[in-house]
Amino acid sequence: MDRKNRIAVVGAGLGGLTAAGFLQRAGFTVKVYEQAPAFSRIGAGIILSANVTKVLRRLGLEEGLIAAGIRSQSYVSRAWNTGEIMAEFVFDAASEARYGGPYVHIHRGDLHGVLERGVAPGTIAFDYQLVDLQEIHGSMRLIFANGAVNEADIVIGADGIRSKVRDYLLGPEPPQFVGAVAYRAIFPAGRLKGFKIPDCTKWWGDDRHCLPYYLTGRRDEVYAIGVVPAASWEHGDTSIPSSREQYLESFAGFHTDLQRVLEAVEAVTLWPIFDRKRNDCWSGGRGGSGGRVALLGDACHPMRPFMAAGGAMAVEDAAILSRCLADFDDFGDAFGCYEATRIPRVADVQRISVENSWMHGPTETDWFYCYDACTVPLGKP
Ligand SMILES: Cc1cc2nc3c(=O)[nH]c(=O)nc-3n(C[C@H](O)[C@H](O)[C@H](O)COP(=O)(O)OP(=O)(O)OC[C@H]3O[C@@H](n4cnc5c(N)ncnc54)[C@H](O)[C@@H]3O)c2cc1C
Repeated sequence: MDRKNRIAVVGAGLGGLTAAGFLQRAGFTVKVYEQAPAFSRIGAGIILSANVTKVLRRLGLEEGLIAAGIRSQSYVSRAWNTGEIMAEFVFDAASEARYGGPYVHIHRGDLHGVLERGVAPGTIAFDYQLVDLQEIHGSMRLIFANGAVNEADIVIGADGIRSKVRDYLLGPEPPQFVGAVAYRAIFPAGRLKGFKIPDCTKWWGDDRHCLPYYLTGRRDEVYAIGVVPAASWEHGDTSIPSSREQYLESFAGFHTDLQRVLEAVEAVTLWPIFDRKRNDCWSGGRGGSGGRVALLGDACHPMRPFMAAGGAMAVEDAAILSRCLADFDDFGDAFGCYEATRIPRVADVQRISVENSWMHGPTETDWFYCYDACTVPLGKP
């Protein structure tokens, strides 16, 4: 595609910044518009498996990820009551050679700091909340809450689960509450008072689970996310404060090894979990010109976080969409190729996320971790 095309990416999340980094390297002029006034260090961690870290390596970010987070050595699945080890996955030099990258856990705020280094200085416009999109005379007009109006030839909606760009493409439709909420707590590992935990453990109950893992290579910061059923959620899409007592109560009866971790918790917040039903329309337009808009990540396929893969899908989408835009002359062909390449894989990941079956027992992981979005053959548009 003609590198003179100006590309607007809406949303400076995992997917938006990855797309911007690749598109700039391909020679496009790219601007990222982010609604937040700045990146903040929200209280949550994220797991980045090898299929993500190998992609971010191409943006020169792998060392930064490992320095800011932890190169994890193991993932253990344990039964909620007996503590029986149901499955164990070791991450070492051999697994890195097999999968093509390390398995990293990192604080989300630190991740943003690393991702920002993958784009040219000045790429991100903060405090730019997209409120409307229009297609006018063969280009896209972006209208922002701060009064600014900008133009671009292509718009990439990387604006998350409540995407405005998705609204433009498919019409407004709120995401669905999945009937579960997540406790999220980060605390200094010193509060474990010497109690040693593996780098990551998933404690499996019948209708709930808890995942404590380290966030730093020094193993001095722990993140514990616990997912429990909830009949409803009355607080929109915002989190609410919770407490250690409430967290412990939700996991009462779980093995003492988990109780010891939750007793160390300080501040806790409770988050609703939303997703959307599968929808395979990720690109198009309204103006009759074939469409200049594409979605990626949570904007088109938000999923339950039970496989720890939503962010991974956003990064893979970003790499593939960038390859398609660079390879094809026509927008429609580029978007068609992107959808053909991505939809089957994302559908599998979405299904497994709903089942909450990933790594419950011995699991064939190669198809997921070995995937390389920078080299995988592209689908036929
Ligand atoms: C509890 C929980 C745990 C999870 N754990 C993991 C995990 O371990 N591993 C993993 O891979 N995934 C995990 N995920 C999923 C992952 O967080 C998401 O899939 C991922 O963040 C999606 O990335 P994205 O770039 O598509 O969107 P986002 O990360 O949501 O980024 C969207 C960006 O767009 C901005 N934006 C929104 N609207 C506008 C607008 N109108 N104008 C301008 N900017 C806008 C937002 O401020 C934000 O910066 C988890 C999710 C949850 C809820």
